Amino acid sequence: MKAERGQIIPPGSTIGVLGGGQLGRMTALAAAPLGYRVHSYCPEADSPAFQVSAFSTVAPYDDQDALARFAETVDVITFEFENVPSTATELLARTKPTRPDPRVLHVCQDRLREKDFLASANVPTTRYMEVARAEGLERAVRSIGLPAVLKTAQFGYDGKGQVMLGKESDIADAWRRMGAGIGILEGFVDFTHEISVIVARGVDGISAAFPPVENQHRNHILDTTIVPARLPEALLMRAEAVAKHIAEVLPVIGILAVEMFVTTGGEVLVNELAPRPHNSGHWTIDACMTSQFEQFVRAICGLPLGSVERHADAVMKNLLGDDVAAWREILSEPGAKLHLYGKREPRPGRKMGHITRLFPKGAI
Ligand code: AMP
Repeated sequence: MKAERGQIIPPGSTIGVLGGGQLGRMTALAAAPLGYRVHSYCPEADSPAFQVSAFSTVAPYDDQDALARFAETVDVITFEFENVPSTATELLARTKPTRPDPRVLHVCQDRLREKDFLASANVPTTRYMEVARAEGLERAVRSIGLPAVLKTAQFGYDGKGQVMLGKESDIADAWRRMGAGIGILEGFVDFTHEISVIVARGVDGISAAFPPVENQHRNHILDTTIVPARLPEALLMRAEAVAKHIAEVLPVIGILAVEMFVTTGGEVLVNELAPRPHNSGHWTIDACMTSQFEQFVRAICGLPLGSVERHADAVMKNLLGDDVAAWREILSEPGAKLHLYGKREPRPGRKMGHITRLFPKGAI
Protein backbone atom coordinates (compact mmCIF):
# COMPACT_ATOMS: atom_id res chain seq x y z
CA MET A 1 0.00 0.00 0.00
CA LYS A 2 1.36 3.41 -0.93
CA ALA A 3 1.95 5.57 2.11
CA GLU A 4 0.25 8.86 2.72
CA ARG A 5 2.35 11.88 3.59
CA GLY A 6 2.24 12.56 7.29
CA GLN A 7 0.86 9.12 8.15
CA ILE A 8 1.10 8.31 11.86
CA ILE A 9 2.73 5.00 12.75
CA PRO A 10 1.29 4.08 16.15
CA PRO A 11 3.01 2.14 18.96
CA GLY A 12 2.80 -1.60 18.28
CA SER A 13 4.12 -1.06 14.74
CA THR A 14 7.43 -2.27 13.34
CA ILE A 15 10.19 0.14 12.29
CA GLY A 16 12.45 -1.07 9.49
CA VAL A 17 16.04 0.18 9.80
CA LEU A 18 18.60 -0.12 7.01
CA GLY A 19 22.02 -0.56 8.60
CA GLY A 20 22.93 -2.61 11.65
CA GLY A 21 25.55 -0.60 13.52
CA GLN A 22 25.50 0.97 16.97
CA LEU A 23 23.12 3.72 15.82
CA GLY A 24 20.57 1.09 14.82
CA ARG A 25 21.20 -0.75 18.08
CA MET A 26 20.55 2.35 20.21
CA THR A 27 17.49 3.18 18.07
CA ALA A 28 16.03 -0.28 18.72
CA LEU A 29 16.74 0.11 22.44
CA ALA A 30 14.88 3.46 22.45
CA ALA A 31 11.98 2.15 20.35
CA ALA A 32 11.09 -0.65 22.79
CA PRO A 33 9.77 1.51 25.69
CA LEU A 34 7.49 3.29 23.21
CA GLY A 35 6.05 -0.09 22.19
CA TYR A 36 7.72 -0.46 18.78
CA ARG A 37 9.67 -3.36 17.37
CA VAL A 38 12.63 -2.93 15.06
CA HIS A 39 13.49 -4.96 11.98
CA SER A 40 17.16 -4.39 11.13
CA TYR A 41 18.49 -4.97 7.61
CA CYS A 42 22.24 -5.24 7.14
CA PRO A 43 24.61 -7.22 4.90
CA GLU A 44 26.88 -8.27 7.81
CA ALA A 45 25.54 -11.11 9.95
CA ASP A 46 27.37 -10.11 13.13
CA SER A 47 25.92 -6.59 13.38
CA PRO A 48 25.42 -4.80 16.74
CA ALA A 49 21.76 -3.96 16.02
CA PHE A 50 20.76 -7.59 15.42
CA GLN A 51 21.41 -8.44 19.10
CA VAL A 52 18.53 -6.17 20.18
CA SER A 53 16.19 -6.22 17.16
CA ALA A 54 12.92 -8.17 17.06
CA PHE A 55 13.56 -9.13 13.42
CA SER A 56 16.70 -9.25 11.30
CA THR A 57 17.48 -9.56 7.61
CA VAL A 58 21.01 -10.33 6.47
CA ALA A 59 21.19 -9.38 2.79
CA PRO A 60 23.00 -6.98 0.48
CA TYR A 61 21.44 -3.55 -0.13
CA ASP A 62 20.95 -4.33 -3.82
CA ASP A 63 18.97 -7.55 -3.24
CA GLN A 64 15.60 -6.43 -4.56
CA ASP A 65 13.74 -9.56 -3.39
CA ALA A 66 15.09 -9.24 0.15
CA LEU A 67 14.22 -5.52 0.18
CA ALA A 68 10.66 -6.30 -0.97
CA ARG A 69 10.22 -8.97 1.73
CA PHE A 70 11.63 -6.56 4.34
CA ALA A 71 9.16 -3.83 3.26
CA GLU A 72 6.23 -6.25 3.69
CA THR A 73 7.08 -6.81 7.36
CA VAL A 74 7.48 -3.18 8.46
CA ASP A 75 5.28 -0.08 8.82
CA VAL A 76 7.87 2.65 8.33
CA ILE A 77 11.41 2.59 6.98
CA THR A 78 14.50 4.56 7.90
CA PHE A 79 18.30 4.22 7.77
CA GLU A 80 21.06 4.54 10.30
CA PHE A 81 23.98 5.35 8.02
CA GLU A 82 24.44 7.26 4.78
CA ASN A 83 26.10 4.71 2.57
CA VAL A 84 22.94 2.72 1.94
CA PRO A 85 22.39 3.11 -1.84
CA SER A 86 19.62 5.67 -2.33
CA THR A 87 18.22 3.31 -5.03
CA ALA A 88 17.35 0.89 -2.18
CA THR A 89 15.44 3.57 -0.27
CA GLU A 90 13.74 4.73 -3.50
CA LEU A 91 12.51 1.18 -4.09
CA LEU A 92 11.26 0.83 -0.51
CA ALA A 93 9.58 4.26 -0.56
CA ARG A 94 7.22 3.00 -3.28
CA THR A 95 5.50 0.75 -0.76
CA LYS A 96 6.11 2.08 2.74
CA PRO A 97 6.64 5.51 4.32
CA THR A 98 10.38 6.09 4.18
CA ARG A 99 11.67 8.81 6.45
CA PRO A 100 13.69 10.84 5.83
CA ASP A 101 12.77 10.91 2.12
CA PRO A 102 15.28 9.14 -0.20
CA ARG A 103 16.03 12.54 -1.78
CA VAL A 104 17.51 13.67 1.55
CA LEU A 105 19.79 10.64 1.57
CA HIS A 106 20.78 11.36 -2.04
CA VAL A 107 21.84 14.93 -1.15
CA CYS A 108 23.74 13.96 2.00
CA GLN A 109 25.57 11.01 0.41
CA ASP A 110 27.72 13.22 -1.74
CA ARG A 111 29.78 16.11 -0.38
CA LEU A 112 29.40 18.10 -3.62
CA ARG A 113 25.62 17.75 -3.76
CA GLU A 114 25.50 18.57 -0.05
CA LYS A 115 27.59 21.75 -0.43
CA ASP A 116 25.60 22.82 -3.54
CA PHE A 117 22.40 22.33 -1.54
CA LEU A 118 23.78 24.38 1.37
CA ALA A 119 24.79 27.17 -1.04
CA SER A 120 21.28 27.16 -2.55
CA ALA A 121 19.83 27.43 0.98
CA ASN A 122 22.14 30.41 1.75
CA VAL A 123 24.00 28.47 4.43
CA PRO A 124 27.66 29.55 4.84
CA THR A 125 30.31 26.87 4.16
CA THR A 126 34.00 27.00 3.35
CA ARG A 127 34.92 27.63 -0.30
CA TYR A 128 34.86 24.43 -2.37
CA MET A 129 35.27 23.17 -5.89
CA GLU A 130 34.58 19.91 -7.70
CA VAL A 131 37.67 18.06 -8.90
CA ALA A 132 37.19 15.35 -11.51
CA ARG A 133 40.80 14.75 -12.66
CA ALA A 134 44.39 15.26 -11.51
CA GLU A 135 44.74 18.27 -13.86
CA GLY A 136 41.55 19.75 -12.40
CA LEU A 137 43.14 19.67 -8.97
CA GLU A 138 45.83 22.16 -10.01
CA ARG A 139 43.16 24.54 -11.27
CA ALA A 140 41.11 24.12 -8.07
CA VAL A 141 44.19 24.79 -5.93
CA ARG A 142 44.81 28.04 -7.85
CA SER A 143 41.21 29.07 -7.27
CA ILE A 144 40.71 27.96 -3.63
CA GLY A 145 44.28 28.64 -2.44
CA LEU A 146 46.37 26.73 0.13
CA PRO A 147 46.12 25.21 2.64
CA ALA A 148 43.19 23.14 1.44
CA VAL A 149 41.64 19.74 2.06
CA LEU A 150 40.94 17.27 -0.74
CA LYS A 151 38.11 14.84 0.04
CA THR A 152 36.36 12.08 -1.87
CA ALA A 153 32.90 13.24 -2.90
CA GLN A 154 31.34 9.97 -1.73
CA PHE A 155 31.83 7.21 0.85
CA GLY A 156 34.21 9.22 3.02
CA TYR A 157 33.80 9.20 6.78
CA ASP A 158 35.97 9.67 9.85
CA GLY A 159 38.63 11.32 7.68
CA LYS A 160 38.89 8.41 5.21
CA GLY A 161 39.69 9.62 1.68
CA GLN A 162 40.93 13.00 2.98
CA VAL A 163 44.24 14.61 2.07
CA MET A 164 45.57 17.85 3.52
CA LEU A 165 47.29 20.07 0.96
CA GLY A 166 49.92 22.61 2.02
CA LYS A 167 52.34 24.81 0.08
CA GLU A 168 54.90 21.98 -0.14
CA SER A 169 52.46 19.24 -1.17
CA ASP A 170 52.85 17.25 -4.37
CA ILE A 171 49.50 17.72 -6.12
CA ALA A 172 49.65 14.59 -8.29
CA ASP A 173 50.48 12.53 -5.21
CA ALA A 174 47.58 14.08 -3.25
CA TRP A 175 45.19 13.11 -6.04
CA ARG A 176 46.45 9.51 -5.96
CA ARG A 177 46.18 9.35 -2.17
CA MET A 178 42.60 10.61 -2.19
CA GLY A 179 41.90 7.54 -4.31
CA ALA A 180 38.52 8.31 -5.91
CA GLY A 181 37.31 9.43 -9.34
CA ILE A 182 35.56 12.55 -8.10
CA GLY A 183 36.72 14.76 -5.28
CA ILE A 184 35.99 18.08 -3.66
CA LEU A 185 38.65 20.60 -2.74
CA GLU A 186 37.76 22.65 0.31
CA GLY A 187 39.49 25.73 1.67
CA PHE A 188 41.15 24.85 4.99
CA VAL A 189 39.12 26.37 7.81
CA ASP A 190 41.07 28.04 10.58
CA PHE A 191 38.69 27.07 13.34
CA THR A 192 38.71 27.54 17.10
CA HIS A 193 35.96 25.02 17.78
CA GLU A 194 34.05 22.24 16.07
CA ILE A 195 30.42 22.10 17.15
CA SER A 196 27.31 20.20 16.11
CA VAL A 197 23.59 20.63 16.45
CA ILE A 198 21.14 17.74 16.33
CA VAL A 199 17.69 18.74 15.23
CA ALA A 200 14.59 16.60 14.97
CA ARG A 201 11.72 17.45 12.64
CA GLY A 202 8.35 15.72 12.70
CA VAL A 203 5.75 15.01 10.01
CA ASP A 204 3.94 18.22 11.02
CA GLY A 205 7.06 20.30 10.26
CA ILE A 206 7.64 21.13 13.93
CA SER A 207 11.30 20.91 14.89
CA ALA A 208 13.28 20.74 18.12
CA ALA A 209 17.05 21.10 18.50
CA PHE A 210 19.25 19.70 21.23
CA PRO A 211 21.69 22.30 22.58
CA PRO A 212 24.83 22.78 20.45
CA VAL A 213 27.78 20.69 21.60
CA GLU A 214 31.52 21.02 21.29
CA ASN A 215 33.35 18.17 19.53
CA GLN A 216 37.00 17.22 19.75
CA HIS A 217 38.42 14.89 17.12
CA ARG A 218 41.49 12.69 17.24
CA ASN A 219 42.89 11.29 13.96
CA HIS A 220 39.73 12.68 12.26
CA ILE A 221 37.50 10.51 14.48
CA LEU A 222 35.21 12.02 17.11
CA ASP A 223 36.89 11.58 20.48
CA THR A 224 34.99 13.77 22.96
CA THR A 225 31.73 15.72 23.01
CA ILE A 226 31.28 18.43 25.65
CA VAL A 227 27.94 19.94 26.52
CA PRO A 228 27.19 22.76 26.82
CA ALA A 229 29.62 24.10 24.21
CA ARG A 230 31.86 26.72 25.83
CA LEU A 231 31.00 29.51 23.41
CA PRO A 232 28.95 32.73 23.56
CA GLU A 233 25.20 32.22 23.78
CA ALA A 234 24.52 34.41 20.70
CA LEU A 235 26.79 32.23 18.56
CA LEU A 236 25.15 29.04 19.80
CA MET A 237 21.71 30.45 19.03
CA ARG A 238 22.91 31.24 15.51
CA ALA A 239 24.17 27.65 15.10
CA GLU A 240 20.83 26.27 16.28
CA ALA A 241 18.93 28.53 13.87
CA VAL A 242 21.14 27.37 10.97
CA ALA A 243 20.47 23.70 11.80
CA LYS A 244 16.71 24.24 12.00
CA HIS A 245 16.76 26.14 8.70
CA ILE A 246 18.60 23.27 6.95
CA ALA A 247 16.17 20.67 8.35
CA GLU A 248 13.27 22.77 7.08
CA VAL A 249 14.64 23.35 3.57
CA LEU A 250 15.90 19.79 2.89
CA PRO A 251 13.21 18.90 4.27
CA VAL A 252 13.99 16.24 6.88
CA ILE A 253 11.52 14.06 8.73
CA GLY A 254 13.65 12.41 11.39
CA ILE A 255 16.96 13.54 12.79
CA LEU A 256 19.54 15.79 11.18
CA ALA A 257 23.01 16.29 12.62
CA VAL A 258 24.79 19.42 11.43
CA GLU A 259 28.54 19.61 11.99
CA MET A 260 29.99 23.11 11.98
CA PHE A 261 33.25 24.99 12.37
CA VAL A 262 33.50 28.15 14.47
CA THR A 263 36.21 30.23 12.78
CA THR A 264 38.77 32.47 14.45
CA GLY A 265 36.63 35.38 13.17
CA GLY A 266 33.52 34.05 14.98
CA GLU A 267 31.79 32.79 11.82
CA VAL A 268 29.79 29.55 11.84
CA LEU A 269 30.46 27.44 8.72
CA VAL A 270 28.65 24.17 8.06
CA ASN A 271 31.01 21.26 7.36
CA GLU A 272 28.79 18.22 7.01
CA LEU A 273 25.23 16.91 7.37
CA ALA A 274 24.08 13.50 8.60
CA PRO A 275 20.35 12.76 8.23
CA ARG A 276 20.30 10.28 11.14
CA PRO A 277 21.27 10.04 14.82
CA HIS A 278 24.88 11.07 15.34
CA ASN A 279 27.81 10.16 17.55
CA SER A 280 27.86 13.70 18.95
CA GLY A 281 24.32 13.14 20.28
CA HIS A 282 25.00 10.03 22.37
CA TRP A 283 25.21 12.14 25.56
CA THR A 284 21.45 12.83 25.24
CA ILE A 285 20.71 9.25 26.39
CA ASP A 286 21.92 10.05 29.90
CA ALA A 287 21.61 13.85 30.15
CA CYS A 288 18.31 14.74 28.45
CA MET A 289 14.60 14.21 29.00
CA THR A 290 14.43 12.61 25.54
CA SER A 291 17.41 10.95 23.85
CA GLN A 292 18.25 11.57 20.19
CA PHE A 293 17.21 7.95 19.54
CA GLU A 294 13.79 8.31 21.15
CA GLN A 295 13.37 11.61 19.29
CA PHE A 296 14.27 9.82 16.04
CA VAL A 297 11.57 7.21 16.67
CA ARG A 298 9.03 9.90 17.58
CA ALA A 299 9.85 11.96 14.46
CA ILE A 300 9.69 9.13 11.90
CA CYS A 301 6.54 7.67 13.47
CA GLY A 302 4.68 10.99 13.45
CA LEU A 303 4.48 11.24 17.25
CA PRO A 304 4.85 14.54 19.12
CA LEU A 305 8.53 15.35 19.65
CA GLY A 306 9.84 15.01 23.19
CA SER A 307 11.38 17.67 25.38
CA VAL A 308 15.03 18.40 24.53
CA GLU A 309 15.64 19.69 28.04
CA ARG A 310 19.05 18.87 29.46
CA HIS A 311 19.16 17.94 33.14
CA ALA A 312 22.96 17.68 33.45
CA ASP A 313 26.18 18.86 31.86
CA ALA A 314 27.97 16.02 30.12
CA VAL A 315 31.19 14.83 28.57
CA MET A 316 30.90 11.90 26.17
CA LYS A 317 34.03 9.96 25.27
CA ASN A 318 34.22 7.34 22.55
CA LEU A 319 35.84 4.01 23.36
CA LEU A 320 37.91 3.15 20.30
CA GLY A 321 39.64 -0.20 19.80
CA ASP A 322 41.40 -1.39 22.97
CA ASP A 323 39.99 1.55 25.06
CA VAL A 324 37.15 -0.85 25.76
CA ALA A 325 39.43 -2.97 27.97
CA ALA A 326 38.94 -0.30 30.70
CA TRP A 327 35.27 -1.27 31.19
CA ARG A 328 35.80 -2.42 34.77
CA GLU A 329 37.35 0.88 35.95
CA ILE A 330 34.65 2.85 34.11
CA LEU A 331 31.92 0.85 35.84
CA SER A 332 33.35 1.64 39.26
CA GLU A 333 33.40 5.39 38.54
CA PRO A 334 30.38 7.22 40.03
CA GLY A 335 28.75 9.59 37.54
CA ALA A 336 29.97 7.64 34.49
CA LYS A 337 27.58 5.69 32.27
CA LEU A 338 29.07 2.95 30.11
CA HIS A 339 27.53 1.96 26.77
CA LEU A 340 28.99 -0.99 24.89
CA TYR A 341 27.99 -1.92 21.36
CA GLY A 342 28.45 -5.69 21.54
CA LYS A 343 31.23 -5.78 18.94
CA ARG A 344 33.53 -8.75 19.30
CA GLU A 345 36.80 -7.56 17.81
CA PRO A 346 38.40 -4.33 19.14
CA ARG A 347 40.24 -3.27 15.97
CA PRO A 348 42.22 0.03 16.11
CA GLY A 349 39.91 3.02 15.61
CA ARG A 350 36.75 0.87 15.76
CA LYS A 351 33.94 2.41 17.82
CA MET A 352 33.37 -0.19 20.56
CA GLY A 353 31.29 1.91 22.95
CA HIS A 354 31.18 5.23 24.74
CA ILE A 355 31.11 6.70 28.24
CA THR A 356 29.02 9.66 29.30
CA ARG A 357 30.19 11.45 32.41
CA LEU A 358 27.52 13.58 34.03
CA PHE A 359 28.10 16.80 35.98
CA PRO A 360 25.68 19.14 37.76
CA LYS A 361 24.13 21.66 35.37
CA GLY A 362 26.33 24.75 35.20
CA ALA A 363 29.53 22.88 36.17
CA ILE A 364 31.01 23.00 32.63
P1 AMP B 1 34.78 15.35 7.79
O1 AMP B 1 34.95 13.95 7.31
O2 AMP B 1 34.44 16.33 6.73
O3 AMP B 1 33.83 15.43 8.97
O4 AMP B 1 36.19 15.79 8.39
C1 AMP B 1 36.77 15.19 9.52
C2 AMP B 1 37.56 16.23 10.30
O5 AMP B 1 38.62 16.79 9.47
C3 AMP B 1 36.74 17.44 10.72
O6 AMP B 1 36.04 17.18 11.91
C4 AMP B 1 37.83 18.48 10.90
O7 AMP B 1 38.53 18.30 12.12
C5 AMP B 1 38.77 18.18 9.75
N1 AMP B 1 38.39 18.97 8.54
C6 AMP B 1 37.55 18.56 7.58
N2 AMP B 1 37.37 19.51 6.64
C7 AMP B 1 38.14 20.56 6.99
C8 AMP B 1 38.40 21.86 6.44
N3 AMP B 1 37.84 22.26 5.29
N4 AMP B 1 39.23 22.68 7.12
C9 AMP B 1 39.81 22.30 8.30
N5 AMP B 1 39.62 21.08 8.86
C10 AMP B 1 38.80 20.22 8.23
